[in-house]
Formats: sequence, C-alpha cells, structure tokens
Amino acid sequence: MSDNYIVSARKYRPTTFSNVVGQSSLTTTLKNSIASGRLAHAYLFCGPRGVGKTTCARIFAKTINCLSPKPNGDACEECESCRAFNEQRSYNIHELDAASNNSVDDIRQLIEQVNIPPQVGKYKVFIVDEVHMLSTAAFNAFLKTLEEPPKHAIFILATTEKHKLLPTILSRCQIYDFSRMTVQDIVGHLENVAKQEGITYEPAALNVIAQKADGGMRDALSIFDQVASFCQGNITYQQTIADLNVLDYEYYFKLVDYFMAGKIPEIMLTFNDILSKGFEGSHFIGGLNTHFRNLLISRDEATTQLLEVSDDIRQRYAEQAKRCTPKFLYAAIRKCTDCDLNYKLSQNKRLLVELTLIEISQIATGEADGNPSGLRPTKILKPIFTKQGNVAPASAAVSQSASAAQPTSQQNNPKSAEETKKPVPSQQPTAPIPPKETPVATTSANSAHRFSIKQRLSQAQGTVSPQAESTTAQTFQPKVEKLTGGVTEENIITAWHIYESQIPTGEAAIAILMRNYTPHLLNNNSFEVAVSNSMNVDTLRKYEHSILKHIKDSLGTDALTMTIRLQTLAEQPKFYTKPERLKILRATHPALDKLCKELDLDVSLG
Ligand SMILES: [Zn+2]
Repeated sequence: MSDNYIVSARKYRPTTFSNVVGQSSLTTTLKNSIASGRLAHAYLFCGPRGVGKTTCARIFAKTINCLSPKPNGDACEECESCRAFNEQRSYNIHELDAASNNSVDDIRQLIEQVNIPPQVGKYKVFIVDEVHMLSTAAFNAFLKTLEEPPKHAIFILATTEKHKLLPTILSRCQIYDFSRMTVQDIVGHLENVAKQEGITYEPAALNVIAQKADGGMRDALSIFDQVASFCQGNITYQQTIADLNVLDYEYYFKLVDYFMAGKIPEIMLTFNDILSKGFEGSHFIGGLNTHFRNLLISRDEATTQLLEVSDDIRQRYAEQAKRCTPKFLYAAIRKCTDCDLNYKLSQNKRLLVELTLIEISQIATGEADGNPSGLRPTKILKPIFTKQGNVAPASAAVSQSASAAQPTSQQNNPKSAEETKKPVPSQQPTAPIPPKETPVATTSANSAHRFSIKQRLSQAQGTVSPQAESTTAQTFQPKVEKLTGGVTEENIITAWHIYESQIPTGEAAIAILMRNYTPHLLNNNSFEVAVSNSMNVDTLRKYEHSILKHIKDSLGTDALTMTIRLQTLAEQPKFYTKPERLKILRATHPALDKLCKELDLDVSLG
C-alpha cells in the first residue's frame, strides 16, 4: 500500500461515499437506497469523463456487500468482504471496459459469470464502462440478461454519452447523472492531496490546475502530479502556468488598465509579448473575453459566485470591475466575440486582434471623456473602419453580430459618406458603359443588402456601379470567343477562364482569384461566385461588370446575372488551422482521440 510512485489519481481514489468529491446529492441518494435495502438490478451512471462514475460504482459494489455497514451508510472497511474489495481480490465485482471489449464474446463471458452466485457477500456487481460502445449484437445479447437477471446480480452501466443508448436499455436502469465538478471542489481535493503528500502550494496554482482539468478530477490529479514533479514539491503559480502553458492572468489585468488609460503602445507591446511566448491570437482573445466576462459578473454580488477563482484573484476582479462600466464591458465582450468569430476567416490574424484591442481601448477612453457612444475614437481610425465597413455588409457569412457591432458611422456619418461619394463624379466622364441594366443585372433584389455602401450610394443617386469600378477593370477588354450551347455551367466556366487567361500582368490579384474560384450556375439566367474572404469579394466586385459582360457576350445572351458572395464556413475546408484539423482527425479516428486523451495532449495551444 505504501508505494510512493502510485499516481495521485489512483492513490487518492475515494474508497467510501463520504470521500467522493463533488457529487454529494448523488452519493446520498445511493447511500439511502442501500440503507433502505431498495436496490435496483441495473443502474446507469452518466456524466463527463473523470467525475467519479467508475469510482462510485466500485464503492457501491463494496458497500452493498459489506457485512457490517456503518450507521451513516458507508462500508465498514474491516469485514472480510470490504478487505477483499480494498485488496482488489473480491470475486463479487466484475468490470468490463466496453471501449476495448465490445464484442458478443466479451458479453457472453460476462453473462457466464452472472449465473454463478457469490460465495462471500450478497451481490455480484457487474460494471460495464463506456457501455455505449458495445456492438449491436453485444447489446442484444446483453439485453436478455438485463431483462431477467438472477437475484444476486446487479449491473452498473457507465457512459459519457447517454444519448447513444437504446431506449430499451435506458428504461431498464435507474439513472444517475453525474455533474461536472466545480473548480472549488477540485481545488479542495487537491489541497487535501497536497497536504497528505507534504507538497506546498500557492492557491492560485491549484486554481489553474482545476480550471485546466475542466471539471474532471482524474485529469486534475494527473495534471497535479505533472506540476508537482515539475515544481519539485513546491507548486508556485508562475511555475504552474509555465508548465501548463497557461497565459498569466496578470496580462489581462494589465491590459484592462491600459485600455482604460488609452495606452495604445503599451497594449501593442503587451500583445507582442504574448505572441512571442508562443500563444495563439485566438487563444489570447478567448482568454481576454473570459476576463471581461469575469469583470462583468464581479460587479454584482449575486453573480460573483459564478466566478471560479481563488479568493485573492476574486478581490482583484472586484477592484478592477469597479472601474469599468457595464456598458464598456458589454461592448468589449462583443468586440472580442466578433474577433473570435472572424479569426479563422482573417488573412491577417495579428492585425485583426490588434485592431480589436485598439477599438476596445477607444471605447473605454470614449466613455471616460463622457462620450458614451464611443464615436469619437472611431473617427480617429476612419481609414480602417471605412475599409471594414465596405466589407462587412457584403459578407453574408460573417456573423450578424459582427456587422451589428460595427459603429454605424459609415451610414450616419456624413463625412465618410461624402468621401465614398467622391470617386463617382470624378470618374463619370471617362465611363464609357451606358448606365443601363447594371445594378439590376448584378443584384437580385434580395441580395441588395450585400452591396457596399459605395454601390448603394450610387444606386440611390440614380448612377450605376460601373463608375465605381476601378479604371483598370474598365480599360481592360478581353477578346470574346463565341461559345455554342447557350447558358450552361461549362460555358460560363470556359468564358471565365478565357477572360482570366487574358488578364494583363500586373493584375495578379484578380488573375489568381479567377484561377482559384469557378462560377457556379444557379439557374438558367444566373450564376454565383463564392469566395473565401471579404478581400476577394472586393477584388471581384471591381471586375464584376467587365467579367459579366464578357461572359454574356461569349454566351450570346443578355439575360444573365452574377452574384458574388462569401463562402460559408462549411464551404472552405482548406482553411482549417492545425488544432482544427486535429479535432477533425480525433473525431474520425477514435484511436488518435484516445491517444490524445491518455497522453493529456493539449491541442488548443497548437
Ligand atoms: Zn465491511
């Protein structure tokens, strides 16, 4: 028993119901049913991994076989049966891990055991872990036994995925739902383990471990072991975050102070520092968003309990929260959420994060100046905003909230409206294309909202979009090759590539774009081009009229419309980040998933 090298997850596995952490209502119910002698023949323990399902099943098996249970319902730990259980030599408990033994033969072997009555104690307990993994044939074989079990047999089925179980199984079991453990529960248990092991610790460090474990005690204990050995018996916060590759919350506290003070250079340098430590921008933005959320709930005593942090950090949240208005926090959370949503689509991820940080700071200082709308700062950044503003309405795939969160200055600010108007009159004299049909032809009524402000303005003024096109697109006139066969997708694609092959050098952006994307016929008088990001949408729009004209001429038709849109996320598989790719691989390859779980590989940090 005194093996120093037993990992904590095994060494500190609870042996009585009273020791089980974080499931008190559930263990009380189980104890009561044992005390009253009302035992079911089958139990189903559901819940996330590492929350004590198997442990409780074993304790249950021991307790119902105990020859002299304690008044509180726990097993005595002293009788022959308890000793046999504790020394793992009891014949009254059988465990089957259905994740690796899911065949009919495995179940048959188990059923054979069911029919042999126990020699010591009253019950034989059969634990089937990950029961949802059983093959259909195995399930059916098992179902018969489950319907009419001998009196001495009790089944405890455990699963992380209750929804995968057949109703016939569910209806035969008493169901217990295990909850994810709270950070406090886990920290409390880790403190006990640390004390018993003679390990010193900083509370904040245990908090980090508990958060990293995400509600699973087994994970928490194995992380604890790792950190304890890394820190050589003295677990400090700094060493813990270094070992676990966790971003120090100090960064977030510091950044919020900078936001409030409008210290843009410091903000940029801090972000640079974070990137240089190997953290991904999306990870950081997620963390910052959580920080804002924590500040928000720290403002109200009723919600402070939702904060799963140690007491000293709680104090700091409360202190910083006092200096932030709810309005700022809402806006900041919105900004971070938008950034998170757009992160995958963005081609310049760093700039996206930086822009978000600047905007957050401007909201903060805008409020400080008594300008709660935050409009003043957006004016400073007008060039960037104008660019984004033109893009945002066009991006159907980009979240609604993204465009909703954009300041409405593009629409309402007369100054920027004037600026976008400017190119229209200046190019008018050189525009050779008659202002017929174009706005109608290139837009269907219901896709009008996708168009840029520029085009909307020109439409409103009775002018048309060709004037808004770049001069190169107008001067470049590719030769038309007449295609027979009318409007077919093949013909459109052919004309598309004929156009592309004649694009002059120096117009690389559109040439590459047209090589990478092909049009798709929607019906016999319209086609669409779906591109992966808003920059491509902009590029394509510049040539839209010219391309459409070329295709119409090639196909010998005038009744053809072209729609440009952003691809949905599902349409762009090639933009997966490394962690995303791994996630997909894990979902499709159970063996890889198991490996990741067992080695505790953290993929979110790349
Ligand atoms: Zn006993």
